[in-house]
Amino acid sequence: MLAGALALAGCGSLVPGGGSGAAAGSASRAGSTQASPAARIASAPQSYAPDSAERGCLADLGATGARFQPLPDTYAAPGCNKLGTVQLSALAGDRSTFGVSNLGPVRCGTAKAFSDWARFGVDRAARQILGSPIARIETMGSYSCRNVAGTERRSAHARAEAIDVSGFVLEDGRRIMLRRDWRGGDAATREFLRVVHKSACKRFGTVLGPDYNAAHEDHFHLEGTGGKFCR
Ligand SMILES: [Zn+2]
Repeated sequence: MLAGALALAGCGSLVPGGGSGAAAGSASRAGSTQASPAARIASAPQSYAPDSAERGCLADLGATGARFQPLPDTYAAPGCNKLGTVQLSALAGDRSTFGVSNLGPVRCGTAKAFSDWARFGVDRAARQILGSPIARIETMGSYSCRNVAGTERRSAHARAEAIDVSGFVLEDGRRIMLRRDWRGGDAATREFLRVVHKSACKRFGTVLGPDYNAAHEDHFHLEGTGGKFCR
């Protein structure tokens, strides 16, 4: 009962905003002093509370200006899970907030990389190259319990550690689509797409785009934060 109440308090207080880190910290300290270790272990499967690394990630994500909701952990099939994920609802540019469409649960570290990329890679490039801020990043989703095509290996999508980005809508109304504009757009649009692809490679572990293969002709696959593979 106590642990459940604490977990709920933790989720509520971890929604980004002023003082969220302090609120989360005090909730966790209350938990460590009031619940015995055995009680916390016994309650873990029913009412999971984020560990300190996850709380740190949520605080970092909140500091980017992103709006999000932490989601409960779930396990689906073997190799398919949503652990430490969030639902992003808005991202912050330097001067404005913008949306992200069609995105499901994303693991916090990947969401943090995405939020940083959206601001420093995408929104700034849109203003500098195309003369308009971003209004929305369009995606083809994140979590999906599936294998890498043609293999027995689970895709990073099966752990909610990858996001497929299909396009961008600018505040002036222009819509940029990977499928149409990677090769067919005007010079500025093609430059914009190559700049945001390159900046994604600095922030994500694996980035696959239209030059990788035909399966990626309509989106950027942005995955994790580990070792670098950029195509
Ligand atoms: Zn993908």
